Amino acid sequence: MRLRVAQDVFVARQLGREVARAVGLEEQDQTRLATALSEVGRVLIALGQVADVAFVVEVNGVPTLRVAVENSSPGGDAGIGPRIAQVGRLVDTLEVDDGEAGTVVRMARRLPASAPRLTPERMDEIRAGLAAHVPSTPLDELSEQNQQLIAALDEVRAQRDDLARLNAELEETNHGVMALYHQLSEELEETNRGVVALYAELDDKSEQLREASEAKSRFLANVSHELRAPVTAVIGLTRLLLDPASERLGAEQRRQVELIGGSSSDLLNLVNDLLDLAKAEAGRIEPQWSEVDLRAVFGQLRGTLRPLATRPGVDFVVEEPRVATVRTDETLLARVLRNLLTNAIKFTAEGEVRLAVRARDGDVEFTVSDTGTGIPADQQERIFEEFYQVPGSQALMGKGTGLGLPYARRLVGILGGGLRVESEPGAGSTFTVRLPAS
Ligand code: ADP
Repeated sequence: MRLRVAQDVFVARQLGREVARAVGLEEQDQTRLATALSEVGRVLIALGQVADVAFVVEVNGVPTLRVAVENSSPGGDAGIGPRIAQVGRLVDTLEVDDGEAGTVVRMARRLPASAPRLTPERMDEIRAGLAAHVPSTPLDELSEQNQQLIAALDEVRAQRDDLARLNAELEETNHGVMALYHQLSEELEETNRGVVALYAELDDKSEQLREASEAKSRFLANVSHELRAPVTAVIGLTRLLLDPASERLGAEQRRQVELIGGSSSDLLNLVNDLLDLAKAEAGRIEPQWSEVDLRAVFGQLRGTLRPLATRPGVDFVVEEPRVATVRTDETLLARVLRNLLTNAIKFTAEGEVRLAVRARDGDVEFTVSDTGTGIPADQQERIFEEFYQVPGSQALMGKGTGLGLPYARRLVGILGGGLRVESEPGAGSTFTVRLPAS
Protein backbone atom coordinates (compact mmCIF):
# COMPACT_ATOMS: atom_id res chain seq x y z
CA MET A 1 0.00 0.00 0.00
CA ARG A 2 1.06 3.59 -0.40
CA LEU A 3 1.16 6.20 2.38
CA ARG A 4 0.33 9.68 1.26
CA VAL A 5 -1.87 11.41 3.83
CA ALA A 6 -2.43 11.13 7.57
CA GLN A 7 -5.47 8.89 7.12
CA ASP A 8 -3.31 6.32 5.34
CA VAL A 9 -1.46 5.80 8.62
CA PHE A 10 -4.66 4.35 10.15
CA VAL A 11 -5.12 2.09 7.18
CA ALA A 12 -1.49 0.95 7.36
CA ARG A 13 -1.97 0.21 11.04
CA GLN A 14 -5.07 -1.90 10.35
CA LEU A 15 -3.41 -3.69 7.50
CA GLY A 16 -0.32 -4.37 9.59
CA ARG A 17 -2.46 -5.98 12.27
CA GLU A 18 -4.41 -8.02 9.70
CA VAL A 19 -1.22 -9.32 8.10
CA ALA A 20 0.29 -10.12 11.48
CA ARG A 21 -2.84 -12.00 12.49
CA ALA A 22 -3.03 -13.86 9.16
CA VAL A 23 0.57 -15.15 9.39
CA GLY A 24 0.09 -16.33 12.97
CA LEU A 25 1.68 -13.72 15.28
CA GLU A 26 0.24 -13.67 18.78
CA GLU A 27 -2.17 -10.93 19.75
CA GLN A 28 0.30 -8.73 21.58
CA ASP A 29 2.78 -9.05 18.75
CA GLN A 30 0.06 -8.08 16.27
CA THR A 31 -0.43 -4.83 18.21
CA ARG A 32 3.34 -4.29 18.45
CA LEU A 33 3.83 -4.67 14.72
CA ALA A 34 0.80 -2.51 13.86
CA THR A 35 2.03 0.20 16.26
CA ALA A 36 5.56 0.07 14.84
CA LEU A 37 4.27 0.42 11.31
CA SER A 38 1.87 3.29 12.12
CA GLU A 39 4.64 5.11 14.01
CA VAL A 40 7.06 4.88 11.05
CA GLY A 41 4.23 5.99 8.73
CA ARG A 42 3.28 8.87 11.02
CA VAL A 43 6.87 10.19 11.11
CA LEU A 44 7.23 9.97 7.33
CA ILE A 45 3.86 11.66 6.65
CA ALA A 46 4.65 14.39 9.17
CA LEU A 47 7.82 15.07 7.16
CA GLY A 48 5.67 15.40 4.08
CA GLN A 49 6.92 12.23 2.46
CA VAL A 50 5.22 9.56 0.41
CA ALA A 51 6.09 5.93 1.13
CA ASP A 52 5.26 2.41 0.01
CA VAL A 53 4.67 -0.40 2.50
CA ALA A 54 5.44 -4.01 1.60
CA PHE A 55 4.88 -7.16 3.69
CA VAL A 56 7.07 -10.19 3.03
CA VAL A 57 6.99 -13.56 4.79
CA GLU A 58 10.23 -15.51 4.91
CA VAL A 59 9.67 -19.21 5.35
CA ASN A 60 13.26 -20.50 5.09
CA GLY A 61 14.99 -20.88 8.47
CA VAL A 62 13.04 -19.27 11.31
CA PRO A 63 9.76 -18.04 9.74
CA THR A 64 9.80 -14.24 9.91
CA LEU A 65 7.47 -11.44 8.91
CA ARG A 66 9.33 -8.54 7.31
CA VAL A 67 7.87 -5.10 6.67
CA ALA A 68 9.63 -2.59 4.43
CA VAL A 69 8.56 1.07 4.33
CA GLU A 70 10.20 2.71 1.37
CA ASN A 71 10.17 6.44 0.78
CA SER A 72 10.22 6.77 -2.96
CA SER A 73 10.83 10.53 -3.15
CA PRO A 74 14.61 10.92 -3.18
CA GLY A 75 16.15 13.95 -1.62
CA GLY A 76 13.57 13.92 1.16
CA ASP A 77 14.49 14.53 4.73
CA ALA A 78 17.21 12.08 5.66
CA GLY A 79 17.94 11.06 9.23
CA ILE A 80 14.58 9.76 10.43
CA GLY A 81 16.49 7.10 12.41
CA PRO A 82 16.57 9.01 15.75
CA ARG A 83 12.84 9.86 15.45
CA ILE A 84 11.81 6.25 15.29
CA ALA A 85 14.39 4.86 17.71
CA GLN A 86 11.62 3.75 20.12
CA VAL A 87 10.08 1.61 17.39
CA GLY A 88 13.06 -0.74 17.68
CA ARG A 89 11.65 -1.98 20.98
CA LEU A 90 8.47 -3.23 19.33
CA VAL A 91 10.09 -5.52 16.72
CA ASP A 92 12.96 -7.99 16.62
CA THR A 93 15.05 -5.97 14.17
CA LEU A 94 14.81 -2.44 12.84
CA GLU A 95 17.09 -1.12 10.11
CA VAL A 96 17.01 2.37 8.60
CA ASP A 97 18.72 2.75 5.26
CA ASP A 98 19.14 6.43 4.42
CA GLY A 99 20.49 6.43 0.90
CA GLU A 100 20.71 8.63 -2.17
CA ALA A 101 17.69 6.92 -3.65
CA GLY A 102 15.54 7.52 -0.58
CA THR A 103 14.90 6.01 2.86
CA VAL A 104 14.04 2.37 3.54
CA VAL A 105 12.91 1.27 6.98
CA ARG A 106 13.00 -2.51 7.46
CA MET A 107 11.39 -4.21 10.41
CA ALA A 108 11.13 -7.91 11.17
CA ARG A 109 9.36 -10.04 13.73
CA ARG A 110 9.90 -13.81 14.12
CA LEU A 111 6.79 -15.98 13.90
CA PRO A 112 6.10 -18.18 16.93
CA ALA A 113 6.57 -21.94 16.66
CA SER A 114 2.82 -22.33 17.11
CA ALA A 115 2.08 -20.35 13.90
CA PRO A 116 0.35 -22.41 11.17
CA ARG A 117 2.54 -23.49 8.23
CA LEU A 118 2.56 -20.93 5.44
CA THR A 119 2.20 -22.97 2.27
CA PRO A 120 1.97 -21.19 -1.12
CA GLU A 121 -1.76 -21.94 -1.10
CA ARG A 122 -2.17 -20.37 2.30
CA MET A 123 -0.22 -17.32 1.11
CA ASP A 124 -2.58 -16.96 -1.87
CA GLU A 125 -5.49 -17.17 0.51
CA ILE A 126 -4.01 -14.47 2.75
CA ARG A 127 -3.33 -12.22 -0.23
CA ALA A 128 -6.90 -12.63 -1.45
CA GLY A 129 -8.27 -11.93 2.03
CA LEU A 130 -6.20 -8.74 2.32
CA ALA A 131 -7.28 -7.54 -1.13
CA ALA A 132 -10.88 -7.86 -0.01
CA HIS A 133 -10.09 -5.91 3.14
CA VAL A 134 -12.12 -2.75 3.39
CA PRO A 135 -10.36 -0.15 5.49
CA SER A 136 -12.51 1.13 8.32
CA THR A 137 -12.75 4.75 9.45
CA PRO A 138 -10.17 6.34 11.74
CA LEU A 139 -12.86 6.31 14.43
CA ASP A 140 -13.22 2.54 14.15
CA GLU A 141 -9.46 2.20 14.27
CA LEU A 142 -9.37 4.43 17.35
CA SER A 143 -11.93 2.27 19.10
CA GLU A 144 -10.00 -0.87 18.09
CA GLN A 145 -6.87 0.72 19.45
CA ASN A 146 -8.67 1.57 22.69
CA GLN A 147 -9.79 -2.04 23.03
CA GLN A 148 -6.24 -3.17 22.63
CA LEU A 149 -5.06 -0.62 25.16
CA ILE A 150 -7.64 -1.87 27.66
CA ALA A 151 -6.55 -5.45 27.03
CA ALA A 152 -2.90 -4.46 27.51
CA LEU A 153 -3.78 -2.61 30.73
CA ASP A 154 -5.71 -5.65 31.97
CA GLU A 155 -2.74 -7.79 31.30
CA VAL A 156 -0.44 -5.39 33.13
CA ARG A 157 -2.82 -5.43 36.10
CA ALA A 158 -2.95 -9.23 36.07
CA GLN A 159 0.81 -9.33 36.00
CA ARG A 160 1.00 -6.86 38.87
CA ASP A 161 -1.43 -9.04 40.86
CA ASP A 162 0.68 -12.07 40.10
CA LEU A 163 3.75 -10.21 41.27
CA ALA A 164 2.01 -9.15 44.47
CA ARG A 165 0.93 -12.74 45.11
CA LEU A 166 4.43 -13.99 44.44
CA ASN A 167 5.83 -11.38 46.80
CA ALA A 168 3.38 -12.43 49.49
CA GLU A 169 4.36 -16.06 48.99
CA LEU A 170 8.01 -15.13 49.13
CA GLU A 171 7.46 -13.22 52.34
CA GLU A 172 5.65 -16.18 53.83
CA THR A 173 8.45 -18.50 52.80
CA ASN A 174 10.93 -16.10 54.33
CA HIS A 175 8.96 -16.15 57.57
CA GLY A 176 9.05 -19.94 57.48
CA VAL A 177 12.77 -20.01 56.82
CA MET A 178 13.39 -17.53 59.62
CA ALA A 179 11.27 -19.59 62.00
CA LEU A 180 13.17 -22.72 61.02
CA TYR A 181 16.45 -20.90 61.42
CA HIS A 182 15.46 -19.71 64.90
CA GLN A 183 14.36 -23.16 65.85
CA LEU A 184 17.58 -24.65 64.56
CA SER A 185 19.75 -22.12 66.34
CA GLU A 186 17.84 -22.73 69.54
CA GLU A 187 18.35 -26.46 69.16
CA LEU A 188 22.00 -25.90 68.38
CA GLU A 189 22.36 -23.70 71.43
CA GLU A 190 20.71 -26.33 73.58
CA THR A 191 22.95 -29.06 72.15
CA ASN A 192 25.98 -26.86 72.75
CA ARG A 193 24.90 -26.29 76.33
CA GLY A 194 24.57 -30.07 76.72
CA VAL A 195 28.00 -30.67 75.24
CA VAL A 196 29.56 -28.03 77.47
CA ALA A 197 27.91 -29.58 80.52
CA LEU A 198 29.10 -33.01 79.41
CA TYR A 199 32.64 -31.75 79.02
CA ALA A 200 32.53 -30.14 82.45
CA GLU A 201 31.38 -33.47 83.87
CA LEU A 202 34.09 -35.26 81.93
CA ASP A 203 36.68 -32.84 83.32
CA ASP A 204 35.38 -33.46 86.83
CA LYS A 205 35.54 -37.20 86.29
CA SER A 206 39.08 -37.11 84.91
CA GLU A 207 40.11 -34.93 87.82
CA GLN A 208 38.57 -37.47 90.21
CA LEU A 209 40.26 -40.27 88.30
CA ARG A 210 43.61 -38.51 88.49
CA GLU A 211 43.16 -37.96 92.21
CA ALA A 212 42.16 -41.60 92.70
CA SER A 213 45.17 -42.75 90.72
CA GLU A 214 47.47 -40.50 92.74
CA ALA A 215 45.92 -41.77 95.97
CA LYS A 216 46.50 -45.34 94.80
CA SER A 217 50.13 -44.65 93.97
CA ARG A 218 50.65 -42.89 97.28
CA PHE A 219 49.01 -45.74 99.13
CA LEU A 220 51.12 -48.34 97.30
CA ALA A 221 54.28 -46.39 97.90
CA ASN A 222 53.53 -45.97 101.60
CA VAL A 223 52.41 -49.53 102.19
CA SER A 224 55.32 -51.07 100.36
CA HIS A 225 57.73 -48.75 102.05
CA GLU A 226 56.29 -49.67 105.44
CA LEU A 227 56.37 -53.38 104.57
CA ARG A 228 59.97 -53.37 103.45
CA ALA A 229 61.48 -52.94 106.91
CA PRO A 230 59.58 -55.78 108.65
CA VAL A 231 60.01 -58.16 105.71
CA THR A 232 63.73 -57.43 105.60
CA ALA A 233 63.81 -58.06 109.33
CA VAL A 234 62.08 -61.43 108.88
CA ILE A 235 64.60 -62.41 106.21
CA GLY A 236 67.43 -61.36 108.49
CA LEU A 237 65.99 -63.41 111.35
CA THR A 238 65.57 -66.55 109.24
CA ARG A 239 69.21 -66.20 108.11
CA LEU A 240 70.20 -65.89 111.73
CA LEU A 241 68.20 -68.97 112.69
CA LEU A 242 69.78 -70.97 109.87
CA ASP A 243 73.29 -69.78 110.64
CA PRO A 244 75.47 -72.74 111.65
CA ALA A 245 76.73 -70.64 114.53
CA SER A 246 73.22 -70.41 116.00
CA GLU A 247 71.52 -73.02 118.06
CA ARG A 248 70.98 -76.17 116.03
CA LEU A 249 67.47 -76.69 114.64
CA GLY A 250 65.69 -79.98 114.06
CA ALA A 251 65.31 -81.08 110.41
CA GLU A 252 61.61 -80.16 110.30
CA GLN A 253 62.22 -76.83 112.03
CA ARG A 254 64.97 -76.07 109.55
CA ARG A 255 62.67 -76.85 106.60
CA GLN A 256 60.00 -74.57 107.99
CA VAL A 257 62.40 -71.72 108.66
CA GLU A 258 63.68 -72.12 105.07
CA LEU A 259 60.09 -71.86 103.81
CA ILE A 260 59.61 -68.68 105.85
CA GLY A 261 62.82 -67.31 104.35
CA GLY A 262 61.76 -68.18 100.76
CA SER A 263 58.30 -66.65 101.14
CA SER A 264 59.75 -63.54 102.73
CA SER A 265 62.16 -63.12 99.80
CA ASP A 266 59.24 -63.40 97.36
CA LEU A 267 57.34 -60.85 99.42
CA LEU A 268 60.32 -58.50 99.46
CA ASN A 269 60.57 -58.78 95.66
CA LEU A 270 56.90 -57.91 95.33
CA VAL A 271 57.19 -55.01 97.74
CA ASN A 272 60.24 -53.67 95.91
CA ASP A 273 58.53 -53.98 92.51
CA LEU A 274 55.40 -52.27 93.85
CA LEU A 275 57.44 -49.47 95.32
CA ASP A 276 59.28 -48.96 92.01
CA LEU A 277 56.07 -48.90 90.01
CA ALA A 278 54.32 -46.59 92.46
CA LYS A 279 57.25 -44.19 92.29
CA ALA A 280 57.25 -44.25 88.51
CA GLU A 281 53.49 -43.68 88.38
CA ALA A 282 53.58 -40.87 90.88
CA GLY A 283 56.06 -39.11 88.60
CA ARG A 284 58.67 -39.24 91.30
CA ILE A 285 61.38 -40.48 88.98
CA GLU A 286 63.63 -37.73 87.67
CA PRO A 287 65.87 -39.05 84.89
CA GLN A 288 69.53 -38.08 85.05
CA TRP A 289 70.31 -37.30 81.44
CA SER A 290 73.80 -37.97 80.14
CA GLU A 291 75.64 -39.26 77.11
CA VAL A 292 75.53 -42.99 77.92
CA ASP A 293 78.29 -45.28 76.65
CA LEU A 294 76.38 -48.34 75.42
CA ARG A 295 79.47 -50.60 75.38
CA ALA A 296 79.73 -50.11 79.13
CA VAL A 297 76.02 -50.75 79.72
CA PHE A 298 76.06 -53.87 77.54
CA GLY A 299 79.23 -55.13 79.24
CA GLN A 300 77.67 -54.75 82.65
CA LEU A 301 74.48 -56.56 81.59
CA ARG A 302 76.55 -59.35 80.09
CA GLY A 303 78.41 -59.72 83.37
CA THR A 304 75.46 -59.58 85.74
CA LEU A 305 73.04 -61.75 83.77
CA ARG A 306 75.35 -64.50 82.54
CA PRO A 307 75.12 -66.27 85.92
CA LEU A 308 71.34 -66.48 85.42
CA ALA A 309 71.58 -67.87 81.88
CA THR A 310 72.96 -71.18 82.88
CA ARG A 311 70.74 -73.48 80.84
CA PRO A 312 73.04 -75.53 78.57
CA GLY A 313 70.77 -75.41 75.49
CA VAL A 314 70.44 -71.60 75.59
CA ASP A 315 72.99 -69.18 74.14
CA PHE A 316 73.07 -65.86 75.94
CA VAL A 317 74.29 -63.28 73.40
CA VAL A 318 74.88 -59.62 74.13
CA GLU A 319 75.98 -58.15 70.79
CA GLU A 320 78.61 -55.46 70.41
CA PRO A 321 76.54 -52.24 70.28
CA ARG A 322 76.25 -50.75 66.77
CA VAL A 323 75.52 -47.38 68.33
CA ALA A 324 78.24 -45.90 70.52
CA THR A 325 76.25 -43.56 72.76
CA VAL A 326 72.72 -42.40 73.45
CA ARG A 327 71.52 -39.47 75.51
CA THR A 328 69.42 -41.00 78.26
CA ASP A 329 69.41 -42.08 81.92
CA GLU A 330 71.89 -44.93 82.29
CA THR A 331 70.37 -46.51 85.41
CA LEU A 332 66.82 -46.51 84.06
CA LEU A 333 67.91 -47.88 80.66
CA ALA A 334 69.91 -50.65 82.34
CA ARG A 335 66.92 -51.55 84.55
CA VAL A 336 64.60 -51.84 81.55
CA LEU A 337 67.03 -54.00 79.57
CA ARG A 338 67.82 -56.15 82.61
CA ASN A 339 64.11 -56.64 83.18
CA LEU A 340 63.48 -57.73 79.57
CA LEU A 341 66.55 -60.00 79.50
CA THR A 342 65.53 -61.65 82.80
CA ASN A 343 62.08 -62.37 81.36
CA ALA A 344 63.61 -63.77 78.16
CA ILE A 345 65.91 -66.06 80.17
CA LYS A 346 62.96 -67.10 82.38
CA PHE A 347 60.80 -68.17 79.45
CA THR A 348 63.41 -69.75 77.12
CA ALA A 349 64.20 -73.47 77.45
CA GLU A 350 66.45 -73.70 74.40
CA GLY A 351 67.80 -71.66 71.53
CA GLU A 352 69.09 -68.20 72.39
CA VAL A 353 68.45 -64.93 74.16
CA ARG A 354 69.95 -61.93 72.37
CA LEU A 355 70.39 -58.22 73.10
CA ALA A 356 71.18 -55.87 70.22
CA VAL A 357 71.00 -52.17 69.44
CA ARG A 358 70.92 -50.27 66.14
CA ALA A 359 70.13 -46.81 64.86
CA ARG A 360 66.75 -46.39 63.16
CA ASP A 361 65.35 -43.25 61.52
CA GLY A 362 67.12 -40.92 63.91
CA ASP A 363 66.15 -43.05 66.94
CA VAL A 364 67.90 -45.89 68.70
CA GLU A 365 66.29 -49.32 68.89
CA PHE A 366 67.20 -51.96 71.46
CA THR A 367 65.88 -55.47 70.85
CA VAL A 368 65.69 -58.29 73.35
CA SER A 369 64.78 -61.42 71.43
CA ASP A 370 64.36 -64.99 72.56
CA THR A 371 63.35 -68.37 71.17
CA GLY A 372 61.15 -69.13 74.16
CA THR A 373 57.50 -69.92 74.77
CA GLY A 374 56.17 -66.79 73.01
CA ILE A 375 52.98 -64.90 73.89
CA PRO A 376 49.57 -65.39 72.20
CA ALA A 377 48.50 -62.39 70.07
CA ASP A 378 45.51 -61.53 72.28
CA GLN A 379 47.71 -61.31 75.38
CA GLN A 380 50.45 -59.15 73.91
CA GLU A 381 48.97 -55.89 75.22
CA ARG A 382 47.67 -57.36 78.45
CA ILE A 383 51.13 -58.35 79.67
CA PHE A 384 51.76 -54.63 80.14
CA GLU A 385 48.95 -54.46 82.71
CA GLU A 386 49.83 -54.62 86.36
CA PHE A 387 49.93 -58.14 87.87
CA TYR A 388 48.98 -59.73 84.54
CA GLN A 389 50.69 -63.00 83.73
CA VAL A 390 49.86 -65.12 80.69
CA PRO A 391 47.63 -67.90 82.03
CA GLY A 392 49.49 -71.21 82.09
CA SER A 393 52.84 -69.57 81.33
CA GLN A 394 55.49 -71.27 83.40
CA ALA A 395 58.60 -69.35 84.23
CA LEU A 396 61.56 -71.71 84.22
CA MET A 397 62.84 -70.05 87.39
CA GLY A 398 61.66 -67.54 89.97
CA LYS A 399 58.04 -66.64 90.60
CA GLY A 400 57.55 -63.21 89.12
CA THR A 401 55.11 -60.55 90.25
CA GLY A 402 53.52 -59.45 86.96
CA LEU A 403 54.85 -55.95 87.58
CA GLY A 404 58.06 -56.06 85.54
CA LEU A 405 56.65 -55.11 82.12
CA PRO A 406 54.30 -52.32 83.29
CA TYR A 407 57.27 -50.87 85.15
CA ALA A 408 59.55 -51.21 82.13
CA ARG A 409 57.02 -49.50 79.89
CA ARG A 410 56.67 -46.65 82.41
CA LEU A 411 60.41 -46.14 82.55
CA VAL A 412 60.75 -46.15 78.74
CA GLY A 413 57.92 -43.60 78.65
CA ILE A 414 59.79 -41.42 81.16
CA LEU A 415 62.83 -41.65 78.84
CA GLY A 416 60.69 -40.35 75.97
CA GLY A 417 60.43 -43.63 74.08
CA GLY A 418 58.19 -46.65 73.54
CA LEU A 419 58.21 -50.36 74.34
CA ARG A 420 56.47 -52.91 72.14
CA VAL A 421 56.44 -56.65 71.67
CA GLU A 422 56.23 -59.01 68.72
CA SER A 423 55.81 -62.64 69.48
CA GLU A 424 54.71 -65.98 68.14
CA PRO A 425 53.71 -68.73 70.53
CA GLY A 426 56.24 -71.56 70.37
CA ALA A 427 58.72 -69.53 68.30
CA GLY A 428 59.77 -66.74 70.64
CA SER A 429 59.36 -63.05 71.43
CA THR A 430 61.11 -59.81 70.58
CA PHE A 431 60.73 -56.81 72.87
CA THR A 432 61.79 -53.52 71.26
CA VAL A 433 62.71 -50.37 73.17
CA ARG A 434 62.83 -47.32 70.95
CA LEU A 435 64.46 -44.22 72.37
CA PRO A 436 65.29 -40.84 70.87
CA ALA A 437 69.02 -40.77 70.11
CA SER A 438 69.52 -37.31 71.62
P1 ADP B 1 56.66 -61.37 85.60
O1 ADP B 1 57.74 -61.72 84.65
O2 ADP B 1 57.12 -60.93 86.92
O3 ADP B 1 55.56 -62.36 85.66
P2 ADP B 1 56.21 -59.27 83.72
O4 ADP B 1 55.34 -58.07 83.80
O5 ADP B 1 57.63 -59.07 83.48
O6 ADP B 1 55.94 -60.05 85.05
O7 ADP B 1 55.63 -60.22 82.62
C1 ADP B 1 54.24 -60.47 82.55
C2 ADP B 1 53.98 -61.78 81.82
O8 ADP B 1 54.30 -61.64 80.46
C3 ADP B 1 54.81 -62.92 82.28
O9 ADP B 1 54.24 -63.53 83.41
C4 ADP B 1 54.76 -63.85 81.09
O10 ADP B 1 53.53 -64.55 81.07
C5 ADP B 1 54.77 -62.89 79.94
N1 ADP B 1 56.14 -62.69 79.39
C6 ADP B 1 56.98 -61.65 79.64
N2 ADP B 1 58.12 -61.78 78.94
C7 ADP B 1 58.04 -62.93 78.23
C8 ADP B 1 58.91 -63.63 77.32
N3 ADP B 1 60.11 -63.14 77.00
N4 ADP B 1 58.45 -64.78 76.79
C9 ADP B 1 57.24 -65.27 77.11
N5 ADP B 1 56.36 -64.65 77.94
C10 ADP B 1 56.76 -63.51 78.51
